Amino acid sequence: MNPHSFFVQQVISALRSVLGSKPVALHEPSFAGNEWLYLKECLDSTYVSSVGKFVDRFELELASFTGAKHAVAVVNGTAALHVSLLLAGVKPGDEVLLPALTFIATANAVAYAQATPHFVDSEERSLGMDARALRDYLSSTTEMRGGHCINRSTGRVIRAIVPMHTFGHPVDIQALLAIAHDFQLQLIEDAAESLGSTVDGRHTGTFGLLGTLSFNGNKTITTGGGGAILTNSDELGARAKHLTTTAKLQHRWNFVHDELGYNYRLPNLNAALGCAQLEQLPSFLDSKRLLFDHYRLAFSAVTGVRLVAEPEGCRSNYWLQTLLLDETLVDQRDALLTATNDVGLMTRPAWKLMHRLPMYSNVPKAPLSMAESLERRLINIPSSSGLVPFVP
Ligand SMILES: *Cc1c(COP(=O)(O)O)cnc(C)c1O
Repeated sequence: MNPHSFFVQQVISALRSVLGSKPVALHEPSFAGNEWLYLKECLDSTYVSSVGKFVDRFELELASFTGAKHAVAVVNGTAALHVSLLLAGVKPGDEVLLPALTFIATANAVAYAQATPHFVDSEERSLGMDARALRDYLSSTTEMRGGHCINRSTGRVIRAIVPMHTFGHPVDIQALLAIAHDFQLQLIEDAAESLGSTVDGRHTGTFGLLGTLSFNGNKTITTGGGGAILTNSDELGARAKHLTTTAKLQHRWNFVHDELGYNYRLPNLNAALGCAQLEQLPSFLDSKRLLFDHYRLAFSAVTGVRLVAEPEGCRSNYWLQTLLLDETLVDQRDALLTATNDVGLMTRPAWKLMHRLPMYSNVPKAPLSMAESLERRLINIPSSSGLVPFVP
């Protein structure tokens, strides 16, 4: 007896044809490089904490890889977003535009800055903010006063916009930059998921005033926990470093802090791991792209489902591979999630949309019909860079 529908069986065989018959996690880190060597060097030096050469080296190498003028390493991606919002001038009582389809960190960082998240819709092509819908929405619901964009229904200033490059697929950043310009909004890119993703050859996270990365255990490279702030501004780079290191004035023995700072600096131990991981990033990206090619072939024969590909003109890091079910098959989504996880193939649905969570259920939001459709239809499938494509 086989309880699964034909559709569910087809998806499982497509996954199996790529992944083989062993259990497979959704996303696992890979430590095949200099991790042990650098960690030992770090321990031997006794500089495991807030001082040490690996932090400086990691920051320089991140700047060089992304092309950002400055990279400041911090304890996690959420902290990077929090400080970036403060540096962009987000003040208590402001509103900040962000997608409803995102990981909780984007919204929480706005709340930490004592501002109010204001959720907007996504598009199917990039899974990120829908620039066209956003422009229409802002044109009809806001007005410019004193050089600020005012939400007419709340009377509050909309200070900033935080697009996110979903699962590594670059959002339509040029259109969003134009909106930020026209409505006088500061643009901060949540590039937590898109290390290695580019638009016209330029790295995501380097288009806005500031950009943020994450090196959590499930991201493309990991430092255990970690993040970074990217910026091309010398002034903001120095401010980011200052604010994330308790705003301490450099001095050989005095402890003087000249404003409210944060203890957000990445420990040297984590940076050592990061240096080893960065060396392997190009091969991780090749491996993820190869996995996409194998999935594309395998799923081309399955009707009712589409594998999400990088948007035109963009290069995605393919952090998390994504299937979109046809709207007619959404009633099979949970059966598919259950069946795949039952046979050891880890899959998961999209994040519950931010405006449905208790702490964000009463904040302003645009019509969210596409985000709601994507939430119903989206499934992430195994995506680790260590997955060796199965050859029968
Ligand atoms: C991972 C992630 C972050 C940052 O998460 P941390 O765990 O704090 O490093 C932020 N935004 C998005 C969209 C993410 O996926």
